[in-house]
Amino acid sequence: MLLDIVLHPDERLRTRCTPVTEMTDRLDTLFTHMFETMYDAEGVGLASTQVGESLRFCVVDVSEDRSQPLVLINPEIVAAKNSISWKEGCLSIPEVYAEIVRPKNILVRALDRDFKPIEFEADELLSVCIQHEIDHLDGKLFIDYLSALKRRRLMDKYQKQQREEQA
Ligand code: ZN
Repeated sequence: MLLDIVLHPDERLRTRCTPVTEMTDRLDTLFTHMFETMYDAEGVGLASTQVGESLRFCVVDVSEDRSQPLVLINPEIVAAKNSISWKEGCLSIPEVYAEIVRPKNILVRALDRDFKPIEFEADELLSVCIQHEIDHLDGKLFIDYLSALKRRRLMDKYQKQQREEQA
């Protein structure tokens, strides 16, 4: 089932999510729908706030053939080093892209779909993607990293394009 993706500037994207305390059938079904929605939209990650939820979880798959689905519940970055610049986009801000600098190598702790603790290292796109998704769980968007001037320029274009789509 395809879910509606919440679009910027919807205030729900600014929700600071609360931790998941137990795994439920509802969540498991939601993860399945989130993967379907993310693959359909050709994204590499989708966070709870983007589908109108307010608990801390996201789904990620950065593989070319969409074969490495990853559910991250209550994800945390416990170590970070080096830096990388990546041209990021977001399913909640369609057709807007910008270079963002973030740590390149991260150590991630989370619970998996079975609610079991996992810990792993990530770099390059996986690292960028997980950091982008964790930001969503804190109500933060990638455009928040840009200078006010750059953000305004991109948002003017975005709003114009949104109006044209609705017209
Ligand atoms: Zn995003």
